[in-house]
Amino acid sequence: MNYLSTRGHPDRKRFCEILLEGLAPDGGLYLPEHYPQVDTATLAKWRDLPYAELAFEILSLYIDDIPPADLKAICAKTYTPEVFGSEEIVPLRELEDGVYLEALSNGPTLAFKDMAMQLLGNLFEYELARRGAELNILGATSGDTGSAAEYAMRGKKGVRVFMTSPDGRMSPFQQAQMFSLQDENIHNIAITGVFDDCQDIVKAVSNDLGFKRKYRIGTVNSINWARLLAQVVYYFAGYFQATGGNDKPVSFTVPSGNFGNVCAGHVARMMGLPIHTLVVATNENDVLDEFFRTGIYRVRAAADTHETSSPSMDISKASNFERFVFDLVGRDAAKLRSLFVDDLGGQARFDLSGEPAFKQAAERFGFKSSRSMHADRLATIRDTEKRFATLVDPHTADGLKAAREHLTPGVPMVVLETALPIKFAATLVEALGHEPARPARFEGIEALPKRVVKLPADVEAVKAYIAQNCD
Ligand SMILES: *Cc1c(COP(=O)(O)O)cnc(C)c1O
Repeated sequence: MNYLSTRGHPDRKRFCEILLEGLAPDGGLYLPEHYPQVDTATLAKWRDLPYAELAFEILSLYIDDIPPADLKAICAKTYTPEVFGSEEIVPLRELEDGVYLEALSNGPTLAFKDMAMQLLGNLFEYELARRGAELNILGATSGDTGSAAEYAMRGKKGVRVFMTSPDGRMSPFQQAQMFSLQDENIHNIAITGVFDDCQDIVKAVSNDLGFKRKYRIGTVNSINWARLLAQVVYYFAGYFQATGGNDKPVSFTVPSGNFGNVCAGHVARMMGLPIHTLVVATNENDVLDEFFRTGIYRVRAAADTHETSSPSMDISKASNFERFVFDLVGRDAAKLRSLFVDDLGGQARFDLSGEPAFKQAAERFGFKSSRSMHADRLATIRDTEKRFATLVDPHTADGLKAAREHLTPGVPMVVLETALPIKFAATLVEALGHEPARPARFEGIEALPKRVVKLPADVEAVKAYIAQNCD
């Protein structure tokens, strides 16, 4: 399998080459040259596989430069009941007639990002050892990515993590999870700004090819293809659990920010998994919802990014969206470039409302969307506790609300549970008047010593810090 850039760069790469890279040299995102097709017979064969073996089957279709036995061992080591809390790894439970929650957040940091990051940690370790190389991971997080990356990479040989986050914008629990790690290879950098400032810094450093090469900069942001690929697996696993023996279509609702999670659903659907509808759920930061309703994509300035009670979705420029738009415009790189070329200024805006491509978003690719506000979130959390004795986190609540707006009779609707409620305790308290239960291993983490430096939203300052800490 070869990988290409959405912006038309002529080079083609193999999986392990792009594994350790971020953006393509032309600023585009990597995608496979084609989506391998999975037919009904293959689905039937895969239906009863344990999660790790299912992961191996799917990854094998996209990775041909790791010997199969090694890849199988990596999957087996990653997706264990010890790390993810159950044999199913992503257990599905029915909430009400035809509406399911797929639990993706029982990993080490209690959010779905562990699903991909734990695999990435093991892939990085494997590939770096094979090359005898080192890597400095530079990332941007609004909370969950950072902790997932740090827990996946802590103590790993040959890897350092430099994780930027918007100063003071994460929940105390999230901050404590990250900043309490004392591992020498983990560096927390609090940036005076919002998440998009952090993301812009990461992009700017990655675009400085000289610096990137000298300091062996890599990324674990959701633009990393391996992460997206790891996420494809749980759409299959969710599908099998929801259908229990038939080949009927299933819909998914995905609480969305950077469009990484739902883009994995798009890939699964392109492979032939019978997905009826992919519902993109947003919060008050509704760039994506606006696009799917109107065809107009209007990136907001950092100053117009709302700070909400589902903060991991507080994103005004969805970094993976370009992957989907590439497919939407028929993989026409020139057209893609014409839409995203202004991206550098952070003010990208395009309008596909008059174009046939826009109609295809719903008709051919199955996309729908909804937006949820703070009051909706609280109401959904309350309602879910009252009617189903189940606590959901604010992001999953956004998903549940959106899901109910796009039900199709006879089609199971799977809502991806993207975090556990304890990560966002303040909002749960606001909604319910009580704290959600806290797993024993997280008792008292807010009081632990913190390891973090504060830097301005300035590319040079971040580069200098990396250079200082790289010998
Ligand atoms: C990261 C995250 C999201 C958004 O996922 P994307 O892949 O960025 O769209 C939603 N909910 C939670 C809890 C997250 O951590």
